[in-house]
Amino acid sequence: MMPSTIVGALLESLPHVQAWSGKTIVVKIGGAAMTNDSLLDAVTQDAVLLGAVGVHVVLVHGGGSAVSELGRQLGLEPTFVDGLRVTDDATMRVAQMVHVGGLSRDLVAAIGRRGGRAVGMSGHDGGGWLRAAPRTHTRREDGESVSLGRVGDITSVDAKLLRGILRTGMVPVVAPVAVDEDFESLNVNADSVATAVAAAVEADKLVFLTDVAGICGPDGEVATPLDEDTLKGWIADGTVSGGMIPKAEACLSALDGGVSLVTVADGRVAHGLLLELLTDAGVGTMVQGGFEPE
Ligand code: ADP
Ligand code: MG
Repeated sequence: MMPSTIVGALLESLPHVQAWSGKTIVVKIGGAAMTNDSLLDAVTQDAVLLGAVGVHVVLVHGGGSAVSELGRQLGLEPTFVDGLRVTDDATMRVAQMVHVGGLSRDLVAAIGRRGGRAVGMSGHDGGGWLRAAPRTHTRREDGESVSLGRVGDITSVDAKLLRGILRTGMVPVVAPVAVDEDFESLNVNADSVATAVAAAVEADKLVFLTDVAGICGPDGEVATPLDEDTLKGWIADGTVSGGMIPKAEACLSALDGGVSLVTVADGRVAHGLLLELLTDAGVGTMVQGGFEPE
């Protein structure tokens, strides 16, 4: 790049840098970026650069397929109730090994390598900073309430602890493993962890990096901006399915929880996070709250 072009690009980013400096952004890193080393390096570079210009970044990571893979290698047979996976104790142990022992370390190391400082966290830390309650499921055939094992829904987030870490200039790297009242581990969908964390720290923006270009409508095209009523309709009519259901629900509850800027963006594009924050070209689907009637 010619020096004048570099200066031009830097100057163009200035208003965005000024707008985001001092703000708090929660980024959920999903499938694509978690399974590709160069994408993971790019997103951690983005987090370090954003931190250097005063943006407080919290990373939340997923990585579900790695849990299933290791489970298979260890000979664990997944069981299902009404299509929902049951997380038995052995699978929970594997999930904890993959997320807390593996992926969290990879992210924290990648940030360190780029000259940043990160601290990996699961619910066990800080006296149980991320708590959840086991989820039960009403079985279709007989209406009985059955356990889904070690699957949980977040009940509380220690925002003070997170803010304290952010004040030191470190990047909290949050694994989707919470604890119950007895400090036993619970597996929580990483999208809903990101939402709970964003609402608790009163984040200015929540970005979901995923393995598609955004939320697609019935025509198969990425929709943006997308209002919450349309999105609710797409969940109900099946336009949104599979892993996009918890993500869409996480977007809606983030808006409910007071996070006003929520984006689902393409995690397969290197530096999508910087493009989203520091250029005029927003990427992916921006989900917007409904407008209050006058
Ligand atoms: P992540 O690891 O980012 O959480 P998921 O696999 O859980 O990713 O969710 C993203 C997936 O949701 C996409 O790969 C796509 O197959 C699926 N999906 C279902 N409905 C839609 C939709 N309407 N728009 C985009 N993706 C959708
Ligand atoms: Mg998912």
